[in-house]
This record gives sequence, C-alpha cells and structure tokens, in this order.
Amino acid sequence: MFTIGRSDGWLSGKYTLKQRVSIFGATGSIGQNTIDLIARDLASYDVVALSGASNIEVLARDAIRLGADVAVTADETRLSELCDALAGSGVVAAAGQTALIEAACRPADWVMSAIVGAAGLAPGISALQQGATLALANKESLVCAGGLILETAKANGARLLPVDSEHSAIFQALVGEDMADVERIIITASGGAFRDWSLEKLATATLAQASSHPNWDMGQRITIDSASMFNKALEIIETKEYFGVSPAQIEVLVHPESLIHALVGFRDGALMAHVGPPDMRHAIGYALHWPHRKALPVERLDLAQIGALTFRAPDEVRWPALRLAREVMERGGLSGAVFNAAKETALDGFIDGTLSFPGMAEVVDATLNAIEPSHIDAPMSLDNVMNADQVARSAARAAIQKRAG
Ligand code: NAD
Ligand code: MG
Repeated sequence: MFTIGRSDGWLSGKYTLKQRVSIFGATGSIGQNTIDLIARDLASYDVVALSGASNIEVLARDAIRLGADVAVTADETRLSELCDALAGSGVVAAAGQTALIEAACRPADWVMSAIVGAAGLAPGISALQQGATLALANKESLVCAGGLILETAKANGARLLPVDSEHSAIFQALVGEDMADVERIIITASGGAFRDWSLEKLATATLAQASSHPNWDMGQRITIDSASMFNKALEIIETKEYFGVSPAQIEVLVHPESLIHALVGFRDGALMAHVGPPDMRHAIGYALHWPHRKALPVERLDLAQIGALTFRAPDEVRWPALRLAREVMERGGLSGAVFNAAKETALDGFIDGTLSFPGMAEVVDATLNAIEPSHIDAPMSLDNVMNADQVARSAARAAIQKRAG
C-alpha cells in the first residue's frame, strides 16, 4: 500500500513510509484545504496526480510545489497553457476527460474526490477500481450512484471515507458502535445566507447575496446550495446511501452556529454529537489520517466564550429542496442522478440570471415529474447514470426555457 521513500537524506539512513496521494478538484476550496494539510508534511507524501479545470495558474503552482507526477485540467482547450506553466518542472501535463480518468487509474493509496458536481463520479469510480481509499467530498457521487460507488468499493477492496463535515461527524460518532443500535441520525444545517428570509423576500434574492455563507468559506456552487437547502437535500440522500439507514431515520436540524455538525441517536436515548469549528480541514484531516488522529491546524473551541448553541426545526415550505429529497429517496432507482442533474442545471440558471432563487426548486420539481420512468428504473451502471444525468439536464433546460418564454 505504501511506497518507501527517504525523508531526510541517504546519509542519515532514515526511511519513512510515504503515502501516495492524488487530489481531484485540487484548485477548489476542498482541494486547497487538502493541499494545505499535505504541504505542511510533504515528506510523508508522494503526490501522484492533481486535477483542476480553469484555474491553470494554481494547478501548475501546486503541482510543482508538491512535486506531482501529473497535473490534469478537465478543460482540453487549456492544455497548451498548462504545458507552458509546467515547462521544465518534470510534472507531466494532461487535459480532458480521458486524461482525468487515466490520472485516477494511476496507483495511489489515498485519493481526494473534490470535483464539484456529477463530473466527480467517473474519476472516483476509477480510483476505487484501482483499490485506493477514496476520501469523498463529492457528495454528488453518492446522490447519483450510491449503490454503484459502494459496490465498486467492495468489489475492489477499496475504502470510502466521508469528507462532508456532517458525514465525517456521523462516521466519528459511530466508532465502536453497532449500526443495529442506531435509532436516528440528525444532520445540522446552518440555514445558509437566507435563514430568516420570508418567502416573499426569497423571490428577490440576488446571486451576490446567495454566494455569501455566514459560517463556512466554500466554493460558490455549494454556498448557493446551502442558501437554497439543496446542499442539505443532497446530504440527506448521502446519509442514506453511505450509512444504509432508512429515510425515516434521518432528520435535519437548523443550527445557526454550525458548531455541532451531526448527532447520532441510539436506542438507549443517548445522542452523540460531534462538535468542532467550521473548518473543513478537520474532516479532510480525519480522512487523511484515518484510522488515527493527528494534530490539525484548526481552532480549539472555547465553549464558555461561545456560551449558547441554538437549534430550530427546518421550514419545508421555505425550503422545498428538503421535501424533494424525501420524494427522491422514496422513488429510488436513478432518481438521485436526475435530481442532482436538475439541481445543477437550475443552479446554472440562477448563476446566469435566467432563473430566480425560488425558481430553482420549481425547475427541479418539474424535471423530476417530466422524466420517463424508464430512465429512473434502468439498472445502475455508470453509463445509465450518466444517461439519466444528460436526459435530466435537457429536461431542466426545457423547463427553464418554458418559464422564460
Ligand atoms: P469548488 O468550486 O471550490 O472547486 C471545484 C473543483 O472542481 C475545482 O478544482 C474545479 O476546477 C473542479 N471542476 C469544476 N468543474 C469541473 C469539471 N466539469 N470537471 C472536472 N473538474 C471540475 O468546490 P468545493 O467547494 O471545493 O466543493 C467540491 C466538492 O466538495 C463538492 O462536491 C462539494 O459539494 C463538496 N463539499 C465542499 C465543501 C466545502 O467546504 N467547500 C464541504 C463539503 C462538501
Ligand atoms: Mg456538508
């Protein structure tokens, strides 16, 4: 599983076990936080592959800094730019979807899946197929193809570790526990940028307002998804898929301070809560060092100074995404892939100004109703998932156009 490398020179004769790591979505928020942790202890890692899309400067800078074998941009039109930026460094430059999959097939012990959206699914599957431990920030993989991801991991003896803060929290609360004793799982939600906004006010929400999160510093898409609660909707489905609990066992609790990330309720009435600062380096570091814990550069909470934590029930009228997630879990099959693709397309519509903020949930609802059952009931394979994804994107675009016309 590990390559042996010299950490401090031939003469000292000391050897360390180096972990081979790859980071997909390296230029994004999760990718950069992962690099922050790895760069602090570079002697412990052999960096195999880094991937990005449009931010070539950051991709090349980090690939050189970390001594990666290969840097891949998903955008084929940027290859010559990447080659120029890597010239003379010894890092191989590559571009496009095939190159991304090839990079994911390169042997690695630990792979961070931090591409945003359904685009993260195929590289994650390839990483699992070569037996790597997959640290899964890309929740869309489980929403679109939970069964396929879990089966691929099992068939290849690969491990799947959650990185989403709620799921890392649940995972940690379950250490040493028996799933048969679990009564319920509660995932918390900050409520996002519009926690206290009325329905009328939500109709006026602008892109700039939706792109600013009160507690977390994240990529723009997940930040807007937090404001619309689509992020929580994806996470409910992610919880069901990853932990194998029933939809009725999953609850959402609004917790504005974002310090408790999740709670697990057991049959004796106990609730185990995971408490920590809103810093993704905790969940990333836990997955990186699992099954051990190592010191991490995150804030230590002073609870006496914080004083109080508050909670409230989520409002499903203002947040239809939560209701839609329940419908998707009930429908099953490939409806998660349809839901996610419709959500991604509606989000594009909000970002480019063709859809209002509440319009996103309306388009997702319309798309779920418009898809032929044959797409949802197709057997779960990567091809069928990607096909359902494409069909749903077309249907969502048609729903957006219909509203605009
Ligand atoms: P981000 O937008 O900051 O970064 C996304 C990364 O994916 C970038 O490297 C980008 O270049 C790459 N990318 C974008 N489109 C691509 C495509 N079509 N093909 C290949 N690469 C592409 O996003 P983020 O906030 O880091 O989120 C990444 C994933 O982690 C998402 O699935 C998100 O839901 C999940 N997540 C993020 C956070 C967070 O704190 N940011 C927390 C929990 C889960
Ligand atoms: Mg989360």
